[in-house]
Amino acid sequence: MDQSTIDALRAQAVPPRLHIIDGKSVPASDGAVMDVISPIDGTVLTSMARGTVADMQSAIASARAAFEDGRWAGQPPGARKKVLHKWADLIEANALELAVLGVRDNGTEINMAIKAEPGSAAVTIRYYAEALDKIYGEIAPTASDVLGMIHKEPVGVVGAIIPWNFPLMIGAWKLGPALAMGNSVVLKPAETASLSLMRMVELAHEAGLPSGVLNAVTGEGAVVGEAMGLSMDVDVLVFTGSGGTGRRLMEYAARSNMKRVYLELGGKSPNVVFADAPDLKEAAKIAAGGIFRNAGQVCVAGSRLLVEASIHDEFVAEVAKVSAAMRVGDPLDLGTAIGAVNSEVQLMQNLGFVESARSEGGEVVLGGSRILESTGGYYMEPTIVTGVAPEATLTQKEVFGPVLGVSKFESDDEAVRLANGTVYGLAGGVWTSNLSRAHSIVKRIRTGV
Ligand code: ADP
Repeated sequence: MDQSTIDALRAQAVPPRLHIIDGKSVPASDGAVMDVISPIDGTVLTSMARGTVADMQSAIASARAAFEDGRWAGQPPGARKKVLHKWADLIEANALELAVLGVRDNGTEINMAIKAEPGSAAVTIRYYAEALDKIYGEIAPTASDVLGMIHKEPVGVVGAIIPWNFPLMIGAWKLGPALAMGNSVVLKPAETASLSLMRMVELAHEAGLPSGVLNAVTGEGAVVGEAMGLSMDVDVLVFTGSGGTGRRLMEYAARSNMKRVYLELGGKSPNVVFADAPDLKEAAKIAAGGIFRNAGQVCVAGSRLLVEASIHDEFVAEVAKVSAAMRVGDPLDLGTAIGAVNSEVQLMQNLGFVESARSEGGEVVLGGSRILESTGGYYMEPTIVTGVAPEATLTQKEVFGPVLGVSKFESDDEAVRLANGTVYGLAGGVWTSNLSRAHSIVKRIRTGV
């Protein structure tokens, strides 16, 4: 990966993006399109179809027909495996092209995107390709004149709704397992990060996935996402995104066919640093990277830093030093550590969080402002706020931006109480050289990862 290849790719025009339904590129039923704005400089990159309810219904009908006639589900496992491996090969062969297209659309710094996006997507798809012919059923213990068999079967039509921070990686988390099992899928990429994922869908077809098995409809969540959620013909919804949308999807399911809903939502993940951490410089570096890479737009970002009081000032100073040295700017520049915020709306929201933190008694010790405005893009300084109270907005609400809230604790019990003091529970970290303490705190912090 060198700068001149990246620059050549970024100079390429991006053709207008249409839906992919039944293996064909199709416009919206009413011909509507929406602008795709690049967060790098605020310019219009291209247009994409603004999907209608009719478009979503036609994609679901295509997926249903493909599932019912067994064109994919009915193939031998080895054949499905071959297609998925070929797909991963194509993703790898087109990795830089996919990554640059994605960065132009969503603003993630390229040195992160290349690994986290096509790199991770290919690995995930291979994992499920390898797993699919190793999933066995069971035979239940029964009386000798009874046979009870448990088959693992595809569920039918899977609806997948994807966020904008890592469209390929998170897209692959949904598509890999669903397609490996033989399901058909309807995909709804995020409004502000559809391009690379739509290209990845095209590559699946080039790899030999039959038409109709994977359909993708672009447009607004509130229109096409809702139509997917309310469909009587979608059997499962898989989603990564905000808690509010997750809640809506459960409502849609309840109001329609009670489809199964799998949600991966936001976080306010605590990073707990004890005075006896073996290497405070390393801890500071990881704390900074953990919140500021991808401009904080990471569900597992360590957005709350809890520091033992005795080292608080010294540790915060070190985190601030490391963070201030992280270069914010053009995400397609290989030297950039923190890229663009995904959209202007998101940037304004981030700044609003900084204001509310100030008004609730927090002290902004680093950053706090929009920068590089003359580029037309959406950039924000890495921002650190100390003295954040347990009930403060910055403790209780996910920012999904480069804003780190810092609080002090005096004891293990207080650290655990603060760490658990939100409705979230996605991820967490503990820094100490005392292994007993590490295991005990890890058990007591209620978090998934
Ligand atoms: P964020 O606030 O991070 O953009 P969202 O949860 O709004 O997170 O977006 C994640 C995905 O959910 C996007 O693909 C978006 O289009 C979709 N989405 C948003 N609103 C709805 C909705 N009402 N129904 C279904 N999908 C939605």
